Formats: sequence, C-alpha cells, structure tokens
Amino acid sequence: MRTILVTGGAGFIGGNFVHYILDETDVRVINLDALTYAGNLDTLADLRDNPRHVFVQGDIADHALISRLLAEYEVDAVVNFAAESHVDRSIDGPGAFIQTNVVGTFTLLDCAREHWSKRTGEAREAFRFLHVSTDEVYGSLGATGLFTETSAYAPNSPYSASKAASDHLVRAWFHTYGLPVLTTNCSNNYGPYQFPEKLIPLMILKAQRGEALPIYGDGANVRDWLFVTDHCRAIWRVLEAGRPGEVYNVGGNSERTNLEVVDTLCGLLDELLPDSPHRPHVNLKRFVPDRPGHDRRYAIDASKLKHELGWEPQETFESGMRRTVTWYLESPQWCQRVTDGSYRGERLGAADD
Ligand code: NAD
Repeated sequence: MRTILVTGGAGFIGGNFVHYILDETDVRVINLDALTYAGNLDTLADLRDNPRHVFVQGDIADHALISRLLAEYEVDAVVNFAAESHVDRSIDGPGAFIQTNVVGTFTLLDCAREHWSKRTGEAREAFRFLHVSTDEVYGSLGATGLFTETSAYAPNSPYSASKAASDHLVRAWFHTYGLPVLTTNCSNNYGPYQFPEKLIPLMILKAQRGEALPIYGDGANVRDWLFVTDHCRAIWRVLEAGRPGEVYNVGGNSERTNLEVVDTLCGLLDELLPDSPHRPHVNLKRFVPDRPGHDRRYAIDASKLKHELGWEPQETFESGMRRTVTWYLESPQWCQRVTDGSYRGERLGAADD
C-alpha cells in the first residue's frame, strides 16, 4: 500500500490517524476534508512541509473531485472518517448528517468502485475501502451484555441512524459489486485534538476556567472509552490484514459512567494543577436535564479483532486519561484558538493540492 485517501483527516480521529500513518509507516496520505466547524488545520500544522502529506479541502459528496483524486494519486485505499459526528447537533439539525454521512458515503463508495474496477492485477487485489463507524449503531444496552459484530442494528439518534445507513451501504457495495470493503465499529474515543463540544475536552477546559461542569441526567450513562491512538492502530491493522466484507468491533474494555469520567479528570487536574484556585475540581459538577433519546449503556466485545488480527488496546483508561489531560494542559494555543473561534480564520489560506 503506497497511497491512501483519508477523509475527515482534519478532525479528531482522522487527524490522529494521519499523524499515526506518517509516523509509523512510509505510506503517502491524501487528506480530504471539507473543514466544517469540526475540521481544524491547527491539528495538521506540523505536517505543512511533509512531502507524504497532501491536504485537499473538499466534500466527500463531490463525485468529480473524489474521482480525480483517486485517479491522479493512484490511491490504493480509502479510509473514511469524514462525518458529522456530534449527537446533540444531529438532534438540532439532522439534514447535514444525512447529507454527509449517507450521501457522502454513497458518493465515496461509487467513486471507489469505478476506480477499483479500472485497476488490474495486484493493484486491484490490494485495493481496500475502510469505513470508520461507531458502536452507537447498535442502540442501547441494559446493565449487562456486550455489542458484537452480529448485534442487531437499533440506532436511536439521527447521528447513529445516519451512521447505520452508511454501514449498510458499505455492506451492500461488497455483496453487490464485490468492492473490498472493511467496516470498524468503535466505542467512544478520547485523546489529543478532540473538539471541545465532546465530554472529556469540554470538562477539562471548563474545569480549568472554574466553570460549572454540566452532567446529563444522573450521570449514570455508561460508555466504553478507547484512547484514540489505540483506535488508529486498530484501523491500520484492519486495513493491512482484515478480511474484505468483514466488520470489526473496536473497544477499550473500559466501561465508565459519565460521573466516573468527570471524577477521574477532576482528580488529575487537582494533581497536575496544584496551585489552581478551583481545587477540588469535583465541586464544579452540576446536573442538567438529560438529552432526548440518550442511550443508557454501550459496551463492546472486541474479541474478534483480538483473536483474528492480534489487536488489543495499549492504554488503560487511567494512563490514557493522564496523557489526554496532560496534552490539553500543554496545548493552550490549540485550545485557545478553538475556544475563541480563530482556528476558523485559517481556512481561507488552506492549502489545496
Ligand atoms: P470529527 O467531527 O472530529 O471530525 C470529522 C471531520 O470530517 C472534520 O474534520 C470535518 O471537517 C470533516 N467533514 C465533515 N463533513 C465532511 C464532508 N462532507 N466532506 C469532507 N469532510 C467532512 O469526528 P471524529 O470524532 O474524528 O470521528 C471520525 C469518524 O469516526 C466519524 O465517522 C465518526 O462517526 C467515527 N467515530 C467516532 C467516535 C468518537 O468517539 N469520536 C467513535 C466511533 C466512531
């Protein structure tokens, strides 16, 4: 594999994945991102002079652009991160979720099929389309049980419904056209470069400023948490060795209630900021009305990935959280520019291909 098209590579997981690939392999990355509010060129600032990284601002639903990129760069694999990803935003405005997550994924699949069908020999054999998805497509669990790759789809939010639809399209392109696709369904990620509308960075930045820490409902909703670099390793492993047409669940074996997550990061902030006037940070917790359709519990059985491909998370929840809180404390400029909106000023000067 020499060249991969990564979509959504200016976002949280995509940005971490691009760094991971450039650090750990000799693969060239064509990074296509529409730079919505969630795309941040600051995340890619250290890659400006990297000859193996080509940034292109554009939409995954732009058929002509995608076709051109696949042909011009002789792309060997597509890794699709691009999505509208925030559940609360999907409740307020589901249209963008249908457009990008469903229509966009369809367009990518269609372009990939045309590109793949023109290839011959080894280049055709080796081509892969990896779709990055979420455990939220499986709906909500009770107090026990785990989602496996054969769990029934039961999405409850416009976000998870749009991701579920995209997963079905990916599956159909394998069964109907034979396109060598792979799908990964992963639990909640956390780590560097996550946009502070999501739980962990939101709480870190608010706690640092001494602001109230809003917790939905009773805070007892359970999520399985995975450090983002472990997710990137899993995706690369599936891309290299996964069986076309297969689905792989990715999880961290780290179930925590939202309250436990907030307590952990407050404890780390107390330790790492001994002079903070806001210690103990747990006193900043405030309960707010629950989100509609809020899934109670997600938990992943990632044993297929472990047994077939030898992947396991390297970080524990405690070690990953320590790395994450430390990164946010050591990256005040990245945080400030996201918080005051100035990261968006970069986009007019964004590099094209
Ligand atoms: P994110 O919102 O941080 O990043 C999404 C990126 O996609 C942004 O850079 C945005 O500009 C770009 N984008 C949006 N619409 C686009 C379009 N039409 N064309 C091109 N680019 C577009 O999201 P994330 O948290 O990094 O998630 C990445 C993927 O992983 C998503 O598909 C998401 O469903 C999936 N996922 C996320 C998590 C999680 O915990 N964050 C867990 C499992 C799966």
